[in-house]
Amino acid sequence: MARIVMVCEKCGSPNIVRDAWANWSVETQEWVLGNTFDHCECEDCEGETHVSEIDLDIEYPETAYREAMDLVTEVTMTWREWQDDQFETDQEAGEYASEDK
Ligand SMILES: [Zn+2]
Repeated sequence: MARIVMVCEKCGSPNIVRDAWANWSVETQEWVLGNTFDHCECEDCEGETHVSEIDLDIEYPETAYREAMDLVTEVTMTWREWQDDQFETDQEAGEYASEDK
């Protein structure tokens, strides 16, 4: 499966955000992505931009591919930190439960 990275058309930064709707899912108990809209902002250019799609498998050789993935990792870090917070909260809840025994 092709892996794609979304970057700013102007500066190539993956630090881009896009307007979207999220819908609450009762089934998964989380917000799931609904519609995405054309409006896109680059956090590095600090302005409106358009998205360029880069196919990592085609456009990056091995080493450059890893660098690109590092960039993607940085972008997703904030999201992961949030997830970790959620996870720790769950763990604490679990610890309290086991202490009761
Ligand atoms: Zn940019």
